[in-house]
Amino acid sequence: MSLLQRWARRWRRPPDIPLDLWQSVLATLPFAAERSAPEHERLRMLCAHFLAEKEFHGAHGLAVTDAMALSIAVQACLPLLHMGLPDGRLPRQPPDLLDWYADFVGIVVQPGAVLARREVKDATGVVHQYTETLAGEAMDGGPLMLSWEDVAAAGEGAAHGHNVVIHEFVHKMDMHDIALGEHPGGSPPLPRGFLGHAHQRDARAHWQRVMKSAFDRFTEAVSLAERFGGEPPWLDDYAATSPAEFFAVTCEAYFVNRERFAVEFPELMPLYDGIFRINPRINA
Ligand SMILES: [Zn+2]
Repeated sequence: MSLLQRWARRWRRPPDIPLDLWQSVLATLPFAAERSAPEHERLRMLCAHFLAEKEFHGAHGLAVTDAMALSIAVQACLPLLHMGLPDGRLPRQPPDLLDWYADFVGIVVQPGAVLARREVKDATGVVHQYTETLAGEAMDGGPLMLSWEDVAAAGEGAAHGHNVVIHEFVHKMDMHDIALGEHPGGSPPLPRGFLGHAHQRDARAHWQRVMKSAFDRFTEAVSLAERFGGEPPWLDDYAATSPAEFFAVTCEAYFVNRERFAVEFPELMPLYDGIFRINPRINA
């Protein structure tokens, strides 16, 4: 984000979100509603800036109402509440945190899940075509797609640690410092001094070591359940697809069902608190 854009953001005060709209949307999102009053105040301010910066497009005749846009904004901004900036520093102004999402403007809202045609080339050079059902999609530098049917199920989804909005926006964070054409790897930029590490290199090594062992444990549990019919692990087995999906899926659970997440993934708690809960100036 350019200095000029940052200044514009700071001086342009977006209109306040009407209190009745704010309260009615928050009531549908228990994992956001249960936060403290100072957190709500900060979240509402972030949402006002988010709504001023992003453009919503309804696909297939879907009309995106203020309540729908705000619901997406609340869930997208929730992970930012206590974060540092992508460059590792603490934000001087809360709206600077939207730098995490600065690579795109458009949010396409589909009425329901989308069937996407995919092609993969295997090791022998043969191209395989298949279709994939998408509840959301995030592309580096491009718009973000969400299925409203899935977004609207956020309240019930929390019990299962599921949240499509958080999933896609966490992918955006993960894509933050990758090169063009590269895929994210479940390894977002880390804050300065992450878990007491003086050097970024050590911080990254620590992150990758813990993530890898948690990912291996999860994929092992998924394949055991598939092969021998054992109890499948908590959370969508889609998380076993890749380290990037594992990061996005586990972040969903971290934000919408922290208690269960702490039991299921104790090794990830300090890691995620170390990136998402670093700002001590706000009461949690
Ligand atoms: Zn994903």
